[in-house]
Amino acid sequence: GSADLECDVLVLGGGPGGYSAAFRAADLGLKVVLVERYAQLGGVCLNVGCIPSKALLHVAAVMDEVSHMADLGVDFGAPTVNVDKLRGHKEKVIAKLTGGLGQMAKMRKVTIVRGYGAFVGANHLEVEETTGTGQDKTGSKKVVAFKKAIIAAGSQAVRLPFMPDDPRVVDSTGALALQGVPQKMLIVGGGIIGLEMGTVYSTLGARLDVVEMMDGLMQGADRDLVKVWEKMNKHRFDNILLKTKTVGAQATPEGIQVQFEGLDGTKSEGTYDLVLQAVGRTPNGKKIAADKAGVSVTDRGFINVDIQMRTNVPHIFAIGDIVGQPMLAHKAVHEAHVAAEVIAGELQGNKELASAAFNARVIPSVAYTDPEVAWVGLTEDQAKQQGIKVKKGLFPWAASGRAIANGRDEGVTKLLFDDSPEAGSGDGHAGRGHGKILGGGMVGTHAGDMIGEIALAIEMGADAVDIGKTIHPHPTLGESIGMAAEVAHGSCTDVP
Ligand code: FAD
Repeated sequence: GSADLECDVLVLGGGPGGYSAAFRAADLGLKVVLVERYAQLGGVCLNVGCIPSKALLHVAAVMDEVSHMADLGVDFGAPTVNVDKLRGHKEKVIAKLTGGLGQMAKMRKVTIVRGYGAFVGANHLEVEETTGTGQDKTGSKKVVAFKKAIIAAGSQAVRLPFMPDDPRVVDSTGALALQGVPQKMLIVGGGIIGLEMGTVYSTLGARLDVVEMMDGLMQGADRDLVKVWEKMNKHRFDNILLKTKTVGAQATPEGIQVQFEGLDGTKSEGTYDLVLQAVGRTPNGKKIAADKAGVSVTDRGFINVDIQMRTNVPHIFAIGDIVGQPMLAHKAVHEAHVAAEVIAGELQGNKELASAAFNARVIPSVAYTDPEVAWVGLTEDQAKQQGIKVKKGLFPWAASGRAIANGRDEGVTKLLFDDSPEAGSGDGHAGRGHGKILGGGMVGTHAGDMIGEIALAIEMGADAVDIGKTIHPHPTLGESIGMAAEVAHGSCTDVP
């Protein structure tokens, strides 16, 4: 049929996945149309995710650090918090980054169509124009014809069905809006997002309860690391309810009343000024009329793809949160580059580009709490479950000169190396092999900034000697990675 716009590649969604795909495709010489319902690019990550949360967490970390300074001889006194100004700082950070993305799109001649997109065929998408800061539809429609498409429509927070519709019940977006600081706050879900927001609110003065169905907070992270985090964060919580379900909630004038039920049947209840639902995110796969293009969507709303990010329809690709876990921005960006390269390769007859594939061995995770917890690859529990024998290298930061000088020596760096005899000598690159690093993690200040080195070591198939013999600058926190490797290798020196 007729179309208002034509392009080589249509990108649906302007988050980290979408804009990265659009930029790479444009850089490779393709005509790109990017469809986004919101006024700014950046998606969840820049507008209501990674970036605003880190803007607030930075402030919280400084406040926490300053509160320890009296012990070191400098007393800043009690802080006064201007929430409006703090919110303003966060807004400025978002505006700067999303504005930058707009500029980059213009420079690359990526056509941005503002509106809500839905497929109307295998090569056509209909966009209903949206206005304002939200997604109010104007009724005006445009059809974009495309040769290839990349779906990057992302995800949204899961809502518990029994939660009352009340301004005191929020998801992460509502929590980031920072309307004020509650006295008593409940975090439903002890994962990264919940604990990060809890850190911000508790540093600003809120008392926290957290409720988690599993038997520990921060699932996915190594328990040795989480233990340290828990010890350092105990003071924030009145109650940590584990193996407990949230089963009901009512809005009352006194607060949101919430009922809990332990897996052992124990019932309890609490009343809160603010309830944060952080129980996971659900992909937007069912909201884009994917079936009109023949693209299969799972019951849960995910779109399955191969390692080239291709859906069941060969000229339509999908990337980011919508294709599955882990729902992280850095994963979306790498997937985006793969999809854009494969498409450019196919349209331009470039075999090398056309054979691009997503084959990252590991994807790091970071909880930007205080202290930070960062991990990548296998944890000790996972290795055990998979029957892999490991050699551990544990380096407590109590032996790190820099950590002690910083007054923050609670940290731990932990590396795991393959110690199973059947692993063989490995294939020299990113394969299993006796002695090779399988995973690692750290808890401590700036852990997130250092985890990339462990990810690199895993990608390169490094062993303990490679890491231990790599000269790390002294005195740094990153040195702890080299030291942990030496511990595993049994050649630990005593460099504090
Ligand atoms: P999204 O960012 O969800 O973008 C999808 C875009 O598509 C949105 O802009 C949406 O408006 C648009 N869209 C959807 N459907 C349509 C449609 N039909 N028509 C038009 N437009 C549409 N990840 C990290 O790596 N590090 C972090 O520190 C981190 N912190 C986070 C903190 C919070 C509070 C949250 C909620 C998430 C955080 N994440 C973090 C996760 C990260 O935000 C996501 O993994 C990332 O944004 C996914 O990118 P995406 O491009 O797949 O989708």
